[in-house]
Amino acid sequence: MRKTIIAGNWKMNKTAKETRATLTELRALADGIEGVEIVIGTPFTSLESAVETVKGSNIKIAAQNLYPKDSGAFTGEISPVMLKDLGVEYVILGHSERREYFNESNEFINSKVKAALAHGLTPILCIGEKLEDREAGRTAEVNEKQIREGLAGLTSEEAKKTVVAYEPIWAIGTGKTATPEMAEATHLEIREVLVDMFDREIAEEMTIQYGGSMNAKNAKDLMAQKDIDGGLVGGASLEASSFIEVIKAGL
Ligand code: PGA
Repeated sequence: MRKTIIAGNWKMNKTAKETRATLTELRALADGIEGVEIVIGTPFTSLESAVETVKGSNIKIAAQNLYPKDSGAFTGEISPVMLKDLGVEYVILGHSERREYFNESNEFINSKVKAALAHGLTPILCIGEKLEDREAGRTAEVNEKQIREGLAGLTSEEAKKTVVAYEPIWAIGTGKTATPEMAEATHLEIREVLVDMFDREIAEEMTIQYGGSMNAKNAKDLMAQKDIDGGLVGGASLEASSFIEVIKAGL
């Protein structure tokens, strides 16, 4: 059985103080929930307070990026060693906003995935097509390239520890969600690429999250699909009261 993982992606939101307040609330609301892995991805500046606030609870903390070196002359960057040292367990990599605004290539993202795994962090590799790709019938091709290049060179053991988040770019922050059927069809295509890269047993164990305007209303139908194993949630993860509803939809 694969793990259902519901991760909040806070993006560039919340100060450390606000992080503490939201996570204190979420921790109380999520108390006793089992069967889904709850993850919150905060900005670097909030990671320490986030880890402290959720200590001893069922909530795990994610970073939203890393630089794939242990240390050195890389002004302004954060290494996997530093994240691990803080008690961070997950890292969101290759988000479409980073691909678009910071020109991250599949090759660079692949080096980040490997660096995360080498330091015992669970990478959440984000992939997804643009609206123009979907309209041109290139969805499968675009996603396949991002998966193959993003996960290139991983061993089977590493693949099993890796999470894929399928986020159609046209659904991110737009209020337009893929229908459950549409999302399931793409998740199935993604899993078949994983079967081809690794093998069926490994691909069946890998969590593939859906992301893009997931909220309390649509989460249940999306996660009811056979190949949708959780969500990567932006807007609806910012308030504890709305995120807990998405979490409960995954139970
Ligand atoms: P959204 O963001 O839920 O606000 O669409 C999802 C994401 O970008 O990870």
